[in-house]
Amino acid sequence: MQLSQGTRQRISFSHRALSSSSKAEKTQPPKKIWFRETGGLSFRCTACGKCCTGTKGAGKVWVNQKEREVIADELYMDVKSFDEAYITKDSSGQSPKRSLRTVDNRCIFLDPNTKQCSIYEVRPTQCRTYPFWPQMVVSPFDWKVAAMECEGIKVDDEQSLKNLCQDSRVSAKHVMDQVIVQSVHKSGEDMLYEDMIDSLDFIEQDTLEMFEHDLTEHNKRLTIYESDSILVQDNYFLDEEDINMSDREIRGPTRSLHFKSHLSVTQTEVLLYDQKSDVIPRSPQSLPIRHDRLVLDVHRAQYMAFGWIQPNKPLNVAIIGTGGGALPMYVLHHHQRKNESSPLQRVQTLDCVDASQEVLDVAKEYFGLQDTYPIRVICQMGEDYLPQNGLKLNILIIDVAKSTENPESESPVLIAPPESLVSQAFLDRLNSDLMDQDDAIVVWNVVNRNTSELKSLVQKIQSSFPHVHLLALPNNYILFASMHPRHWEQISSD
Ligand code: SF4
Ligand code: SF4
Repeated sequence: MQLSQGTRQRISFSHRALSSSSKAEKTQPPKKIWFRETGGLSFRCTACGKCCTGTKGAGKVWVNQKEREVIADELYMDVKSFDEAYITKDSSGQSPKRSLRTVDNRCIFLDPNTKQCSIYEVRPTQCRTYPFWPQMVVSPFDWKVAAMECEGIKVDDEQSLKNLCQDSRVSAKHVMDQVIVQSVHKSGEDMLYEDMIDSLDFIEQDTLEMFEHDLTEHNKRLTIYESDSILVQDNYFLDEEDINMSDREIRGPTRSLHFKSHLSVTQTEVLLYDQKSDVIPRSPQSLPIRHDRLVLDVHRAQYMAFGWIQPNKPLNVAIIGTGGGALPMYVLHHHQRKNESSPLQRVQTLDCVDASQEVLDVAKEYFGLQDTYPIRVICQMGEDYLPQNGLKLNILIIDVAKSTENPESESPVLIAPPESLVSQAFLDRLNSDLMDQDDAIVVWNVVNRNTSELKSLVQKIQSSFPHVHLLALPNNYILFASMHPRHWEQISSD
């Protein structure tokens, strides 16, 4: 069996808007993907079952018609009965897609006791190509992030990316074959994994090289600052849906800040003006940053607090755990009133507090954090912070996490907030010294999936701020607390 003409074109021009740029690039030798240099990647599956569990793995395992027929046959069922028992239909796109059902956040075919796949021999393409999906291998950064989800990937350090373990070495050709097959499967081609692999022998070398060139050239992360603890990079992706992006509505290149101890967590992300716009950057540092939009869901949720403050009231705001400063610069953009008819409150003071001088320097240098009135940049522990000139705050945002040992894995996890920023002494200080008693909101970023700990945290905060709203995001909660009742309907949407 061979790939259809449509699929061959998809391999050739697998990312949209590529045709014109590819023509221009044909005079240059095609670019090779980064792991060609290392001779492949290190991976050996330990059968831990994690990729079939949770939102990252079993979130959506897409299956095409042929795969459903084969699995149904294996289970001695007709396709209709199989679909009823095991398939979820997703009609949100132009054509309905089907995925395997999940039970208790795991794939319905994962045996919870043995952690084995009960349809292993006929599992769908998406399972066979994992972890060599385009979005996981496109850069060393993405491969390291993938290693945090999959214990079979070996990337302990830079050296191990280059010196592949002999017992887990996967050749670059094998990885690229999986990447292509995964892309073809995702595009909707109704073929089985084995047939797609066989068909690769019939694809012209030029076409395969152009696929690799396009994948490399049009999906990039450029490191613009790196120290022992911090990484800042610019991210250019044609198909954001595939990549580790926090918001798929946001289109265009972004700049992100990561702590190396928790690479998969994006601390700050800002939108950059598109390269194709009139403002063409001459160097990464000169890339213009868009402060009119928020990229991360956590920042958008924290900003909702502004909707609860009375209109036309001067804002005195502090952000403990400023990071790259995306939120304060967004607040400044919208609330530094130049237009008197603007209905948004005017910002009077905006204190940006962070315990790390390096983070604040990076925020100013690479994320455009301003350090002039009304912003005051303060390097200080959050629990020691005091507003200037005895002013009382309307809004205090606390976005600080602490690294904690994880009993379930070798990597530490982030827990927020740290005890010091929710202790009784700190809550008393908020009430007596920091917050405006008439009209104030305190916002905590909460990262903790332990239900009983979450409940005690809410109860503790309620003893000082009786009115609490908890907003659930995919990876955390945003907790809003105030002295006076607030209603969701009150929030004015912008
Ligand atoms: S997470 Fe990785 S090591 Fe674990 S079962 Fe999946 S592929 Fe194998
Ligand atoms: S079909 Fe098998 S390999 Fe694929 S997600 Fe389900 S249990 Fe895992």
